Amino acid sequence: MNQNKLFSQTRWRLASWYAVVMGFILSLCGLGLYQAIVHAHLQTLDRELEAVAGTLHDSIENTLKQPGRLEATAQQLLPERTEKRHILGAIHQGDYYVRLLDRSGRVVAMAGFAPDGLPLTSGKETWATIKDVQGNRYHQISLTLHTRNNFSWGYMQMGRSLKDLDNYLANVKLILIFGLPIAMILVGVSSWWLAGLAMQPIYQSYRQIEQFTADAAHELRTPLAATQATVESALGLPHLDEKETRDILRTIERQNQRLIQLVADLLLLARLERKAMPMRLKPCCLNDVVSDLVEELEVLALSAKVRLKNEVRVPYPLEVVGDEEQLYRLVSNLIVNAIQYTPAGGQITMILDRSNGHALIEVQDTGIGIAPSEQKRIFDRFYRVNSDRSRTTGGSGLGLAIASAIVQAHGGSLTVQSELGKGSTFAIRLPCISKC
Ligand code: ADP
Repeated sequence: MNQNKLFSQTRWRLASWYAVVMGFILSLCGLGLYQAIVHAHLQTLDRELEAVAGTLHDSIENTLKQPGRLEATAQQLLPERTEKRHILGAIHQGDYYVRLLDRSGRVVAMAGFAPDGLPLTSGKETWATIKDVQGNRYHQISLTLHTRNNFSWGYMQMGRSLKDLDNYLANVKLILIFGLPIAMILVGVSSWWLAGLAMQPIYQSYRQIEQFTADAAHELRTPLAATQATVESALGLPHLDEKETRDILRTIERQNQRLIQLVADLLLLARLERKAMPMRLKPCCLNDVVSDLVEELEVLALSAKVRLKNEVRVPYPLEVVGDEEQLYRLVSNLIVNAIQYTPAGGQITMILDRSNGHALIEVQDTGIGIAPSEQKRIFDRFYRVNSDRSRTTGGSGLGLAIASAIVQAHGGSLTVQSELGKGSTFAIRLPCISKC
């Protein structure tokens, strides 16, 4: 496939598009995943901070008497005091800080971990993310404090270091940054492979069409070249008498006949394969088809010095629904082949039988046989085991392709069993409507 420019270009294009689309989807997924991780961690952090700050806020508020003044009992509640550790519970205290601000925003007390150069923020905003001088981030909650008499006292701010989270997110980012190109390379390779896989059947049918065109041109060239040669030699003669003229015309007629037959066969095959052939379906008696053809082709068999006999193994007529003309064509193709490929003195036996609900027609001959490697290919269009011999018999290599297409159009099967030098048996199985 890669030698063909059109196919290799299409494969590249397909693979590239696939890789671009997949890359875009993967990048979006990566971004979404990153956002989801950030969101989930911040949510947990907020909830934790809110719960701890709420508990501390309530405890401190209960002790406040005068605005801006911190009672000794309130100082004891601050988390750096060992006896109040239970307030922060499971929280890793090293990551937390608490500061109490009066109404003017002055720091009255500070507890817990003390970040370097942390800016003071207004207590009016409940949530804030701030940075210390080293650039470490902190997430902070601000809650208003009131005295027991309900006078405004100031604010309590509790913050938590985001260092752990930032480190974790930096690792996730790193994985995504390095993982995405690796994933893209894998996507690219698999796209190339998948594009090749998807194009394989198209390429095969393209090759078949190419082969068919070459074969058809080759078959048409022979009679055309013969006609041309005959005409040219006739034109080269100074004078033609009547006998010579008739001989030339007969030669041209023969070649023309061959061309007409070839084109008719090709048309029939194309119609059968496209299922565009109008089928005149009706119940057909296979006993009649076989016996008529044996009778008709007896003369041909006699001239080839082979014996043609008919063996009916069912005591009742076998009927199938089909196009009678096509069924005659099918069986006659097989008998004519058997006569052509059976040397003088041989025998051809037509067997009519039933098998598993199907009508069975077997054409057995004691002819030259077909090698196992050729048995599948003989049903291909224009395929001939021995081209020279077939050409002398007038065959074009379409007979079995037509037979196979007719059988398929009738929902049956055509198989061959053969041994070189011993003979061949072609078996037609067709669904029958009578008792089988
Ligand atoms: P052709 O017109 O050349 O006979 P067919 O399609 O009918 O083409 O057959 C294809 C090839 O199969 C033939 O060229 C021949 O080599 C082989 N073949 C067909 N029938 C027989 C047979 N009964 N015995 C041996 N070879 C056969």
